[in-house]
Amino acid sequence: MTSIIAFGHCACCNAPFGFHPDLVPSYDFGHGREPVCEPCMHVVNSRRVTQGLPPHLILSGAYEPASEVDYMHEMNRRYGAPEEGEAD
Ligand SMILES: [Zn+2]
Repeated sequence: MTSIIAFGHCACCNAPFGFHPDLVPSYDFGHGREPVCEPCMHVVNSRRVTQGLPPHLILSGAYEPASEVDYMHEMNRRYGAPEEGEAD
C-alpha cells in the first residue's frame, strides 16, 4: 500500500519533520496554519498542565504516514472527485 507523508518545518522550533497532513496539530502565527512537531507539542502540553489547563489533543497517527487510499478519499470528500478525463 502506498503511503503519503507530508514534510515541513515546525511552527515553533523550525525543525524539519514528517507528519500526517490532516491529523498533525497546527498553529497560526499569522501566516496560515503551520504544523507543530511532537516534541514541541509535549512541551506546550506539559506547560498547560502545569498551569491547570487541559492539554491540546494529539490525534493518533498525527506523526505517521497517511494511507494513499484514505488520503485521496478524504480529499475527494472535501473538494469533490475529479471529473472524468480531468487528469488527462
Ligand atoms: Zn517543534
